[in-house]
Amino acid sequence: FCLLKKEKKRKPTKLDMEGALTARDRVGIQDFVLLDTHTSETAFLGNLKKRFSEDLIYTYIGTLLVSVNPYKELDIYSKKQMDIYMGVNFFELPPHIYALADNAYHTMMAEANNHFILISGESGAGKTEASKKILQYYAVSCPSTTLLDSVRDRMLVSNPVLEAFGNAKTLKNDNSSRFGKYMDIQFDIQGDAVGGHILSYLLEKSRVVHQNHGERNFHIFYQLVEGGEEDLLHQLGLESNCQHYSYLVQDECANVTSINDKNDWKTVRNALSVIDFDESDIQHLFGIIASVLHLGNVQFEADSKGYATLNKNTELRWVSTLLGINVQVLQEGLTYRKIEAKTDEVLSPFTVDHAIYARNALAKAIYGRTFTWLVNKINDSMENKEPSRKTVIGLLDIYGFEVFYVNSFEQFCINYCNEKLQQLFIQLTLKSEQEEYEAEGIGWEPVQFFNNKIICDLVEEKHRGIISVLDEECLRPGEATDFTFLEKLEEKMGSHPHFITHKLSDKKIRKTLDRGDFRLLHYAGEVTYGVVGFIDKNNDMLYRNIKYVSLLLWSIIHVYLTDKLQFKSSLLGLTDILMSKEPWYVRCLKSNESKQPGRFDDVLVRHQVKYLGLMEHLRVRRAGFAYRRRYELFLQRYKPLCPATWPHWRGVAAEGVEVLVQHLGYLPDEYKMGRTKIFIRHPRTLFATEDAFEVC
Ligand code: ADP
Ligand code: MG
Repeated sequence: FCLLKKEKKRKPTKLDMEGALTARDRVGIQDFVLLDTHTSETAFLGNLKKRFSEDLIYTYIGTLLVSVNPYKELDIYSKKQMDIYMGVNFFELPPHIYALADNAYHTMMAEANNHFILISGESGAGKTEASKKILQYYAVSCPSTTLLDSVRDRMLVSNPVLEAFGNAKTLKNDNSSRFGKYMDIQFDIQGDAVGGHILSYLLEKSRVVHQNHGERNFHIFYQLVEGGEEDLLHQLGLESNCQHYSYLVQDECANVTSINDKNDWKTVRNALSVIDFDESDIQHLFGIIASVLHLGNVQFEADSKGYATLNKNTELRWVSTLLGINVQVLQEGLTYRKIEAKTDEVLSPFTVDHAIYARNALAKAIYGRTFTWLVNKINDSMENKEPSRKTVIGLLDIYGFEVFYVNSFEQFCINYCNEKLQQLFIQLTLKSEQEEYEAEGIGWEPVQFFNNKIICDLVEEKHRGIISVLDEECLRPGEATDFTFLEKLEEKMGSHPHFITHKLSDKKIRKTLDRGDFRLLHYAGEVTYGVVGFIDKNNDMLYRNIKYVSLLLWSIIHVYLTDKLQFKSSLLGLTDILMSKEPWYVRCLKSNESKQPGRFDDVLVRHQVKYLGLMEHLRVRRAGFAYRRRYELFLQRYKPLCPATWPHWRGVAAEGVEVLVQHLGYLPDEYKMGRTKIFIRHPRTLFATEDAFEVC
């Protein structure tokens, strides 16, 4: 109880006694389930805000952890703090990400089963930070043998490496993860962290060749150019100046005050050696990264017939040297399309636009492949080859729901992914709640809440969903355009309640839509997508851009295709993986848009509370029996409140609890005794007990 006491100590006791400001007024309620008055959104927000103003960024809804990004360093992540949370029951200390991590760990050990922690929230809400804190907790706090320390080091340093290659500055977040990451941390029977495995998906490859206003390319490019040693840059043919590379300066945003590329370069270089990259791997890796930069500078000119030619090919020579591809082959590949006729091949020249398209497709493919290779290397280094039995805790950090001014195919994929995760959350919350009541022999009435399955179906249904329509259109090269795709959507989805377009909407809404837009009513809110680029980008992810990119590049694209298929199966696989594990949730909220410390924007937070379904989750929690606790723990905590149970209850815990609650005057309707737990219907019952406890 020491921290609980600490939190209490903060209270001005004198004022307390005078009743002017109770403890609860100061620090709010640490578990929303205990919020006594009502389940209104306003009360919910009030509590969050109150706590936030005291730097208490964590609050529970039962075992779900809500976290509000403070945008400032808080002194709550030290080793000392970790020790405090180690092995202590969830409800006995103030809410913390360590408490959740610890609880998952101890449940895993006690029940010998697998768990996963799903971290969600919009971009910049603190998901990646949360996942790092959890990983650190396991790496630092779990029992350790020196032999295994190297595995932990590798797990920890895999982060800066993946962030260098997979994160970038966006408008929302200076260090935004541009890929989804699922990481399994494996524990042996003694509870040692002994290995790890990462699944990555949905890397935003288009960023390599194009960034929106105010955004940057992936960090690694700037780190290499700014921080790379002279020798290395020389070998790679690079200049130590970001302005020189067209893929890096599209938006004149190469330097950002919050980012120190030079320092980060050193961190990444060190990290690479920890995860077993030898000098030749490193040469290879940065050779490829450099080749992408050179490729971006390859310029085409139109000849008299308007076909693409390469006048100055110094850059191309570098690409050729670094990738080990014959320069002639490369040049042909970028400027001609190879058409296979019956007996031979015909070369058909590209226009400048097509050549640029081919160049960019190649750059993206190379980068995507490199990222996959990197993840595989990291996995090799964290692999535990011991055949002994292991249990795992999975950590899922996926980039959150995204709404920009202009939303394209990338946002469509990301938002779909979030829609799926929400669906999983709904299934698992309801499922586990139901199962718990069944296991304990207690009946309940399910709560109604919005099920987003209808939107998932709209996107993914076979032969009928948006993805199917898009794939079908992509099978009609030359005929299909983004606009025929939109027409098909209008034909098929016309009457769907979550889909509208300019043509389908009434006068008032029509004003807010362009002709080339479609709008989806996601569970989290409306998003308008511009169809321009959908066909190309979908093709790019499949293999049909062979139409544009000549056969000479086919091998690269082909491997790229294999990756894509892996992605598809890995996303499907992910749902299975998650379904087979016990879920824990961290819901991250963004406190304000301007990344300012201590600012709590009510409107912004309210919106997130809404679409993350927090109120619904709370309602589910409270509808049946809001609170449940194992008999032993309940007795342990509240036994001082009853003379018969204090200081010790010598009999069966369940009986002790019965005696205790009788003494406290619980009415028969207010609680139920399950097989291993007491279930309390109204939080106010427990709340009164908590009050009594605080007084005592
Ligand atoms: P997301 O992964 O959800 O997009 P991040 O985890 O990258 O967001 O967080 C964005 C930024 O917010 C971080 O770079 C950091 O500055 C700040 N931040 C997030 N969580 C915390 C925290 N717990 N304490 C302090 N700052 C935080
Ligand atoms: Mg992130």
